[in-house]
Amino acid sequence: MRFTPDEVTRGLLDEVDRVFADAGPGASRRELFALLGDRRLVAVHYPEEYGGRGLRLTDHAAVAERMGLAGLPDEVHLVTVQGVGCSLLTAGTEEQRRRWLPRVAAGRAFASLLLSEPNAGSDLTAIETTAVPDGDGYVVTGRKAWNLYADWSDFGLVSVRTRAGRDRYDGISFLLVPFDAPGVALRPVRREAGEPYYTVVLDGVRVGRDALIGPEHQGWPLLIRAIGFERAGFDYLSRAQRWLRTAGELVDAAPPAERARLRVDLLRHERAVANARALAFRAVNTADGFDMDEVASAYSKLACGEAAQGVARWAATELTGGADGDRLRVVRHALAEAPELSISGGAVELQLDLIAVDQCTGSA
Ligand SMILES: Cc1cc2nc3c(=O)[nH]c(=O)nc-3n(C[C@H](O)[C@H](O)[C@H](O)COP(=O)(O)OP(=O)(O)OC[C@H]3O[C@@H](n4cnc5c(N)ncnc54)[C@H](O)[C@@H]3O)c2cc1C
Repeated sequence: MRFTPDEVTRGLLDEVDRVFADAGPGASRRELFALLGDRRLVAVHYPEEYGGRGLRLTDHAAVAERMGLAGLPDEVHLVTVQGVGCSLLTAGTEEQRRRWLPRVAAGRAFASLLLSEPNAGSDLTAIETTAVPDGDGYVVTGRKAWNLYADWSDFGLVSVRTRAGRDRYDGISFLLVPFDAPGVALRPVRREAGEPYYTVVLDGVRVGRDALIGPEHQGWPLLIRAIGFERAGFDYLSRAQRWLRTAGELVDAAPPAERARLRVDLLRHERAVANARALAFRAVNTADGFDMDEVASAYSKLACGEAAQGVARWAATELTGGADGDRLRVVRHALAEAPELSISGGAVELQLDLIAVDQCTGSA
């Protein structure tokens, strides 16, 4: 099974490669985002008036995959462009879109998706962050957990409780909060796998009524849409491919007596990653506009997560014997990151629930 890019997508990928080649190895990650933004490559699926090229979600996915493979932090791209940006595109006002999207597409502004809390992880309806009406706006108070690269962010899309709610989904709203607003503070939390998580503390943050995205009290469908693309597991896929590349180099460098056996294992992992990639692109190809099918994403996420974890564990067990500094670092990092792939963006159990409900009743 393979995803084969068509001519348009291939052209885009060539452009991305040229940007990286011209920038050279000394360019910082932020500079690379800006250079890609200058070529309108950061959000190719956004309409042209917001800095995109009006292309397909598949094209964006292919470009995002290439950027991740080149080492740009895919969480930043995924959360900013897709999670937050597409929420603005589909539910924001024209003023909100014009304020943020051109800068996002230009690779100059970044955003966080602030959903999880210390007491609301997999169950995102359990949030305790409140937004209390105050004059012509709201006062937001709470803590949002597990955010990577929040120190890059200019603003966040925050889930809040605007009323107690008749059921667990009712009473949830979304607000755009600039990170330079008084009362916003970032607290780093040590993470085994490298870049820290941040807890974003919102201490009586005042925002105007124009910060509201989508309907007040009825924001839950927006949340499902916001995490749809992330749930396809493209960030896991680029990890799997990066780790596989290092594993391949380690197999080539293995003692001759070991190599044949390791090559068979490598082929097995390459096949698992190729299958996961096919499922990820299938999930994107079956999307309705920006809306991903939850079940297609669930299959893809499970496959991408399993494939990446398989590579990480195999490489750490079988390939680290004679590994040099850089490759050993990649494998150790992969092993530390692997467990996260069972929980970020929706735990494995939640994906299995979605699949089970779909298979047993025909609708998730
Ligand atoms: C790398 C990474 C990046 C993240 N980025 C973001 C982000 O940008 N924004 C954001 O808001 N959040 C983010 N998160 C948070 C993430 O989406 C989860 O919500 C969070 O990790 C859940 O953590 P928890 O400790 O509350 O676990 P819990 O939800 O309490 O889960 C604990 C355990 O229970 C299992 N479990 C959960 N639900 C069920 C169930 N229904 N049935 C059976 N078992 C279950 C889980 O698999 C897990 O093993 C990120 C997490 C990670 C690891």
